[in-house]
Amino acid sequence: VKRAKRTGRTEVYQSRVFDVARKQFRIETELRRAIETRALTLNFQPICDLSTGKITSFESLARWRTEDGTELTPGEFIPVAEESGLIVPLGRWALDEAVRTMSIWNRAADGDCGVKLAVNLSAIQLQRDRVPVVLREALERHGVDGSHIVLELTESALVTDPDGIAHTLRGLKDLGTTLAMDDFGTGYSNLAYLQTLPIDVLKIDRSFIQGMMGDRDKIAIVRAILSLAQALGMQTTAEGIESNELAQTLAALGCTYGQGFLYARPLSADDAFQFLRDS
Ligand code: C2E
Ligand code: MG
Ligand code: MG
Ligand code: MG
Repeated sequence: VKRAKRTGRTEVYQSRVFDVARKQFRIETELRRAIETRALTLNFQPICDLSTGKITSFESLARWRTEDGTELTPGEFIPVAEESGLIVPLGRWALDEAVRTMSIWNRAADGDCGVKLAVNLSAIQLQRDRVPVVLREALERHGVDGSHIVLELTESALVTDPDGIAHTLRGLKDLGTTLAMDDFGTGYSNLAYLQTLPIDVLKIDRSFIQGMMGDRDKIAIVRAILSLAQALGMQTTAEGIESNELAQTLAALGCTYGQGFLYARPLSADDAFQFLRDS
């Protein structure tokens, strides 16, 4: 009896592992097709200057509407893309699509729409692809200047190959781009090393910003990041601002930019451009 029971459990376990693997494989197959057929879209969320309230840029955020109509967020498919290597074509698509959108907005504004577009780069994409070359080609293809593009990378990009990443970041800076360190405070940055890299902006992770009011420890961390950025000559963006009170507090603490549902949720390209026009 004991033995039969154990076998049964093993079977249940194996079929669960198999289900997970099969689901993973299905997502991977569908994602490959979604990239090929351009079934992915970018949404755009405004980033504002906290002292003037003016929109200075938009962050592009990938969305995937699958064939059965459900919308998947990047948390559900970026990890799959990274594990399968699909992050390279996906990342190329995101860069091209953001630059293309910038060219449309610039044309609609008779030359310069006055804001930048930020694109997220995965650490694995930075390792595997030649991102500066890919970006340069996209800028040429769409007639956009690199000064209109912000690239967001995470601390994990700095870990594996410090020399390689330093070279890549210089290549991106040579195109005139702005570099931002995303989700700052959640990784394991070597601060001495960070200081040698051409990073322009630290984006303070949402986990420190949300619930900051009335939490002494979080306020202390935010203050420390702001003074670190100032000492290193970097600007700062606070992620996840959902209230006016937070925006005002962060402005008073000297944070440069703010992003969050207070200003707008991620919008379609057309809605984002309209939002900019109306602002
Ligand atoms: P992220 O770069 O830190 O982007 C900010 C995330 O915070 C977005 O989630 C955005 O919708 C969300 N957010 C913004 N304001 C608020 C707020 O006030 N409250 C709350 N609760 N959330 C807010 P999203 O769009 O789900 O993206 C998640 C992550 O996926 C991004 O985090 C980024 O790391 C990654 N990602 C998105 N698009 C791409 C892409 O094209 N390529 C790569 N490699 N990664 C991407
Ligand atoms: Mg980001
Ligand atoms: Mg972020
Ligand atoms: Mg974050």
